[in-house]
Amino acid sequence: MDNKQITVIVKPTSACNLRCRYCYHAETGYEDGILPVDKLERFIRLLLEEYNSVVFIWHGGEPLLCGPEYFKTAVELQNRYRKEGQRIVNAVQTNGTLLNDEFLTFFRENRFSVSISFDGPGSCNALRGETGKTVDAFMKAIHAGVKPASLSVIHSLNMDKQVEMYRFFKQYGLNMKFNPAFGPSMGSKRPDYIPDTDSYIASLKALFEYWLYDKTAVHLDTIDQYLSIYFRGRGRDCSYGSCLYSWLGIDGKGDLYPCGRYYGPEFCLGNIMDYTNIRQVFLHKNYTELLKKSILRRNQCQNSCKYYSVCHGGCNNSCILDGDLEKPSVFHCTVLKEMLPYVKKTMDSYLKRTKKEQLNPVIAGYLKAGRKTP
Ligand code: SF4
Ligand code: SF4
Repeated sequence: MDNKQITVIVKPTSACNLRCRYCYHAETGYEDGILPVDKLERFIRLLLEEYNSVVFIWHGGEPLLCGPEYFKTAVELQNRYRKEGQRIVNAVQTNGTLLNDEFLTFFRENRFSVSISFDGPGSCNALRGETGKTVDAFMKAIHAGVKPASLSVIHSLNMDKQVEMYRFFKQYGLNMKFNPAFGPSMGSKRPDYIPDTDSYIASLKALFEYWLYDKTAVHLDTIDQYLSIYFRGRGRDCSYGSCLYSWLGIDGKGDLYPCGRYYGPEFCLGNIMDYTNIRQVFLHKNYTELLKKSILRRNQCQNSCKYYSVCHGGCNNSCILDGDLEKPSVFHCTVLKEMLPYVKKTMDSYLKRTKKEQLNPVIAGYLKAGRKTP
């Protein structure tokens, strides 16, 4: 077994009981059907034969539609093929509506990280329903000792509510992440919901300002990305480094893709039953094509952009959704090129002016851990 690590997005089903309007499946289809156990077993076995560390992110559709027994089988299979010293991590991304006691006990006992998709006070009924059920899910999870994280989508209707959303999730002590909406779902069907880049940047700066002077601040992933770059010279998200050869996605039919985001059929890497090892997947002609175009883009970035050392050319999928894998994503580039100098200037001045005992506690934590950049 090689000393390698991989993150896999397992979408055991594309079916969903909520069907939010801003989900990319809203356009690409909510296919019923569950990844058959023989295919799941092949996937788990091949991963554990080859990798020393495997992070399984259970995604969908709504993965809890598969029922608790399905997850018990998955963990049994992981334990069957696990070798001594191997690291296995499980995380589940759910809309929370099916999160019952049986699931919660299982997730707690098997140390699953649970993240619930919810926009809190930024929820918009036109885009997602069952808000009450999702709030109940948060409460149930907190009482059951499973501290959930929250994942929110930022769109044109809630862009200006990010401070409110931060305060809402903070009161429950939750880790949170705010992701801007991306195509093709809203991009082609509801372009009016896609955040306009300049307004999005302005809203992000307003959130940063508020967060910076919050004396009881907690981690907010969106801000942590920038702080990580400021203090350590590198982002934390997959989009700040190359995910090539270290991420893979599988859908309910057992078809493999470069990751869990929306990829068209031209990026399908075949079916798990076609393979006897994972190395072969990365030799698929569609992967080679992805690789070639991605390298072309990264070379251009390296030759022309001063932020290449932290950005590395951005996320392949964002570029594909923007229309060209060989060119940087305009949204990603514009936001990064505006936010990095802004965060640097703001932080330099904040650190110069603020006494140690008055520091935002998250910033104090970064300083304690030591700054890796000049
Ligand atoms: S394609 Fe983008 S979202 Fe997918 S793993 Fe790579 S960087 Fe992350
Ligand atoms: S900011 Fe844009 S141009 Fe610069 S490296 Fe990233 S994707 Fe390339």
